[in-house]
Amino acid sequence: MSKQVELNKLKQEMLADKGLPLLTNLVFGEGNIDCKVLFIGEAPGAEEDKLVRPFVGRSGKLLDKMLEEIGWKREEVYITNIVKRRPPDNRDPSPEEIEAYKPYLSKQIVIINPQVIAPLGRFSMNYFLPNAKITRDQGQAFPWQERVVFPLFHPAAVLRGTAPMANYIASFRKLKKLVGKD
Ligand code: URA
Repeated sequence: MSKQVELNKLKQEMLADKGLPLLTNLVFGEGNIDCKVLFIGEAPGAEEDKLVRPFVGRSGKLLDKMLEEIGWKREEVYITNIVKRRPPDNRDPSPEEIEAYKPYLSKQIVIINPQVIAPLGRFSMNYFLPNAKITRDQGQAFPWQERVVFPLFHPAAVLRGTAPMANYIASFRKLKKLVGKD
């Protein structure tokens, strides 16, 4: 079965799973299924729910800008979220929501089979590295199940000014070096 067929099947499985919390659109993810780098955010926001695409609001614009900064196109990477439906009022995803969506993310990772996983922010980082601290560990490579996990600040943290832009750019440059891709 091709990767695309497997991903379509997984999406149908999610749509059919009435036990999954949250009732908004399912934002499954998009991009190059043969990517070297898979970016994983926390959950879709209002704009993402409306367009049924990940990272298309303000955070997404900054992510696009960072990719551009290192000479990558958004279409070259794959972008998804740990929780694939929007929590109400832009609140953080709850531990129960993360738990419920986790098995699907695991399957998505196995199908896409990226070399590097780049969690954006602490929620998705903690799925891979439960004891990691985003301010301490962002911009560093950690071995994880035959792959590398490279945590990055969530773009919203940079937009809020709680994470410095200079560090953010430096970490994206480091990611590019790690992947060894022009
Ligand atoms: N924030 C996220 O974590 N994911 C999105 O898709 C958009 C904003």
